[in-house]
Amino acid sequence: MTRQLVLFCDFDGTITENDNIIAIMKQFAPPEWEALKDDILAERISVQEGVGKMFSLLPSSLKGEIVDFLRGTARLREGFREFAAWTKEQGIPLYVVSGGIDFFVYPLLDGIIERECIFCNGSDFSGATIRITWPYACDGECQNGCGCCKPSLLRKLSRPDGYHVVIGDSITDVAVAKQADYVLARDFLLQKCQELGLPHAPFATFFDVMDHLQQVEVIV
Ligand SMILES: [Mg+2]
Ligand SMILES: [Zn+2]
Repeated sequence: MTRQLVLFCDFDGTITENDNIIAIMKQFAPPEWEALKDDILAERISVQEGVGKMFSLLPSSLKGEIVDFLRGTARLREGFREFAAWTKEQGIPLYVVSGGIDFFVYPLLDGIIERECIFCNGSDFSGATIRITWPYACDGECQNGCGCCKPSLLRKLSRPDGYHVVIGDSITDVAVAKQADYVLARDFLLQKCQELGLPHAPFATFFDVMDHLQQVEVIV
């Protein structure tokens, strides 16, 4: 049986070289954001709670400035545009699954990935401060308060004939990596894949990702 490659790709630190939420907070937030970040990393609060509270530190009026800032500073990882074009040519579904927020993820992927293939958190600027919304919160099988729940999205978007590949870099990709058939990993996720014995390969650029996937296709 031929299995269809289905790709689930993280955004911050994977498609972009750096984490955009951290970049936004460093640039715009009052110092309280650091304690929230530490609470998330120490698992004292969920990602959902921490990210929601961090953005509530920012006035809604900053929206345009934040987007301009990231458009000027965020860098897409080498080969990503070519990789996205290649998946289209090959008819391989490429889903971006991101704990980032729509108001900066969409502009940074504009013209590269269609919005219906992007799954991230939402935002509401109608109040005094930024309110994050959670269209892809955890399903009944996950109690982690992920915010954007990658394991839930894989359950929802997986196919019976699919060969599901997760591409990512951090702690927020570990749970979904365990559900995948194969993982392309860098940084912390790479270390975790080694520790857990998950089938994986390392990558540095999206040209590496393409090379690995072309080999996977042959094996599948
Ligand atoms: Mg990441
Ligand atoms: Zn979850």
